[in-house]
Amino acid sequence: MPVLELVDVSRVYPRGVRAVDELSLRVEEGELVVLAGPSGCGKSTTLRMIAGLERPNSGEIRVRGSVIDQLSPDRRNVAMVFQNHALYPHLSVRGNLEFGLRVCGMAAAEIQRRVDEVAGMLGLADLLDRMPGQLSGGQRQRVALGRAIVREPDVLLLDEPLASLDGPLRIALRGELKRVQRRLGSPTLYVTHDQEEAMSLADRLVVMKDGRVQQVGRPGEVYARPANRFVAGFVGARGMNFLDGRFESHEGKVVWKESPVLACGMHKDGAVSPKPPFSARGGVLGERSLPVLESVVTPEDRGFGALTLTPIGFTLCIPPHSGLQWQSWLGRHVVLGIRPEHLRIRPAAAEGFAGLSVRVESIETLGSLVDVVAVTALCHRLIARLDAREELATGSDVVLYVDMRDVCFFEPGETGMNLSLTNESSHAIA
Ligand code: ADP
Ligand code: MG
Repeated sequence: MPVLELVDVSRVYPRGVRAVDELSLRVEEGELVVLAGPSGCGKSTTLRMIAGLERPNSGEIRVRGSVIDQLSPDRRNVAMVFQNHALYPHLSVRGNLEFGLRVCGMAAAEIQRRVDEVAGMLGLADLLDRMPGQLSGGQRQRVALGRAIVREPDVLLLDEPLASLDGPLRIALRGELKRVQRRLGSPTLYVTHDQEEAMSLADRLVVMKDGRVQQVGRPGEVYARPANRFVAGFVGARGMNFLDGRFESHEGKVVWKESPVLACGMHKDGAVSPKPPFSARGGVLGERSLPVLESVVTPEDRGFGALTLTPIGFTLCIPPHSGLQWQSWLGRHVVLGIRPEHLRIRPAAAEGFAGLSVRVESIETLGSLVDVVAVTALCHRLIARLDAREELATGSDVVLYVDMRDVCFFEPGETGMNLSLTNESSHAIA
């Protein structure tokens, strides 16, 4: 039986704001589930309903099998920590940690045992006599976490508890939190808008958009097999590159052809296409001619991975894939998805690599890596995350290679389904 279970829970605020829309999720014993999604997608509302601070309009919330919807917050054995959690300013760290336990009349020896254990785990042992005003932001947030953990609640609800901390501290506390959670096995529902935090913490990840669950899965699974285009763009350091095109039949094979009509350079960052760097007709920009095709890396007999660059875009052969019904998509708009980190400047030998001719528009240095912003002849902008030692020049024409087994194809639209998964039952879409 799950420790926490939400079944088709909805919350509609006055004036019809559907903050949470038929959301179902569960947290199992010992599990850390991360609810992730952009700001405003209904994460806090979900936690507030579980804590009893907000009433669902419909659906059911169960803790260890019992429906808790009608219980007042203090009768639910859940503890919630917020982004900027206020401590009791007139109580020491020890006093803050003890407070919830004293209120429920716990024996002094048990209180001391729990407080010492949690203080030790969170690195607060030397700070027990300090007042909140004498603590740094990170220490205060540790105390807030400790105060929730020490209660040993049925479920720990954490609403962006690290968001107010800066970089290195946030990452350090994130690691600690994960270790403490593992050690205590506290069932936890953790909310964040930060995909990196979500990926690093989650046993199971629930991706949410506009109040609805988009996908549930282990982080690696969600990354490798995003259920739809929204998830593909949300998960991953830079989201996925999306290029518009269509499936066509070419010499008995199905190919994906970049489309000039639909090209509009959509990206996670909301970037729009620049002015075409190449002329879509003549393939000439100023004095420069279009890069020529020289990127068929795959042996002919592999039958896929080939690229044909024409002045009106490029064509990719679709790898043979069991169970895929590409035929039914012939002639239809299909979005190609490629992760920036899957693009490289050289193909790996004997793999099913395809090449995309692009012009380098700008280069963002990240240290050992660079993000190369490039545009295709049809004005699709894409980002390639490459080794900084590659020394590419802005304005130069290069071929970027991708293993065709790593690309995705999506239905059009913001939440267009991943076509590679449409025949599988393993992806959970709500
Ligand atoms: P998140 O935590 O994911 O950022 P919230 O759950 O806070 O999102 O909000 C979800 C949606 O509900 C947003 O559109 C927000 O503006 C709206 N909302 C949140 N609280 C209220 C409220 N008390 N009254 C009306 N609308 C609200
Ligand atoms: Mg919130």
